[in-house]
Amino acid sequence: MKDNCIFCKIANGEIPSKTLYEDENFRVILDLGPATRGHALILPKEHYANLYELPEEAACGVMRVAKKMAEKMRDRLGCEGLNLVQNNGDLAGQTVFHFHMHMIPRYPADGQKIGWKPGEPKEEELEEIRKILAD
Ligand code: AMP
Ligand code: ZN
Repeated sequence: MKDNCIFCKIANGEIPSKTLYEDENFRVILDLGPATRGHALILPKEHYANLYELPEEAACGVMRVAKKMAEKMRDRLGCEGLNLVQNNGDLAGQTVFHFHMHMIPRYPADGQKIGWKPGEPKEEELEEIRKILAD
């Protein structure tokens, strides 16, 4: 646990939360500033600041929990869609520096918009990036 990390305290039960699911490695809680009804956060109990620090096994665990919760949200809340959002770094909108995955159930006319403005890259730009990242 990291000192002064609120999500360490929540994940390990030192600060109460609206817990939806818990196992040895993770706790899923309701977000206190929800984008939609049922907006939840998957928190590892170990402190990792972001995806770069998250070990591969924990990353796999996050998706296992996400799948379980996604099915519950669909079946019990009746959401018609779901966004998984995971911010890394200030610039990307991360405000709590303990890894977390947002699960945002979506409903017709829920008034939320999660997206980006699509670019219009030339083929050469895509190829340049492909060369940098592909191996
Ligand atoms: P991010 O911007 O990706 O770092 O997301 C942080 C999220 O944590 C926001 O959606 C906040 O509403 C949520 N949040 C912050 N503090 C708490 C808390 N004590 N309990 C539940 N959710 C929280
Ligand atoms: Zn932490």
